[in-house]
Amino acid sequence: MLTNKTALVTGSTSGIGLGMAKALAAQGANIVMNGFGDKDGPIAEVAALGVKVGFHGADMSKPGEIEAMVRYAETTFGGVDILVNNAGIQHVARIENFPTERWDAVIAINLSSAFHASRMVIPGMRARNWGRIINIASVHGLVGSAEKSAYVAAKHGIVGLTKVCALENATSGVTCNAICPGWVLTPLVQKQVDAKAAALGVSNDEAKRLLLAEKEPSLQFTTPEELGALAVFLCSSAADNVRGVAWNMDGGWAAQ
Ligand code: NAD
Repeated sequence: MLTNKTALVTGSTSGIGLGMAKALAAQGANIVMNGFGDKDGPIAEVAALGVKVGFHGADMSKPGEIEAMVRYAETTFGGVDILVNNAGIQHVARIENFPTERWDAVIAINLSSAFHASRMVIPGMRARNWGRIINIASVHGLVGSAEKSAYVAAKHGIVGLTKVCALENATSGVTCNAICPGWVLTPLVQKQVDAKAAALGVSNDEAKRLLLAEKEPSLQFTTPEELGALAVFLCSSAADNVRGVAWNMDGGWAAQ
């Protein structure tokens, strides 16, 4: 149980982050949510699990706003015990056509934000001698795919950051690990399904089947609930000595 712990989950108004927030709340953790778009519905879903829920709308591409979000969590909840670095975006284009502004945004939101949030929460975790930093990387932290240069670079980067963070805190109660999902049917991936359906003139269902068949041997999407259960394990005492791993949940994608 995570009663009396506080989890800050970035990008938790949607998809995997919302799944993480709900899984940790179901274990009793209070949750600080973050993200863009509709927030009232997602906040209500998490609050329905009976925990205290806060929200900060920091733009994860802005270090000053990330600092303000962590200060908000500390003053409102007394500290951040669990940090899930989840916020992320995608952009698909060949390197020579990749807009430089999109490159900068993907690196800032998918990689640098995890550095900034981590550097802000580690002192409090060290002082309490307990903490969990969970970085939502991707199977693209382990292998590449064409037309995803910024995303793959950011995700490989966050796997490296995870290892360094784990090593720097290895003799303390603070652990840091990465989770590497394959395809998860969230709005981020639905956009890629829509693009495939339009490009090939096929239905939504056929586009999903083709997307999975290309990369994921199980031919099944991983779910936010499955990923949430892995995060709960990483927060348990059984995982006290799990440090610096990049754990893929990818239907066999990286096994090929
Ligand atoms: P999503 O689009 O459903 O959710 C992304 C979340 O991040 C949203 O809450 C959004 O508001 C938030 N966000 C985006 N930009 C932000 C910013 N600048 N500041 C604050 N919040 C911001 O996407 P998802 O699929 O749930 O992705 C979540 C994470 O999981 C990402 O890091 C993504 O790379 C990773 N991931 C996703 C998949 C997949 O197949 N969906 C696979 C592997 C890894």
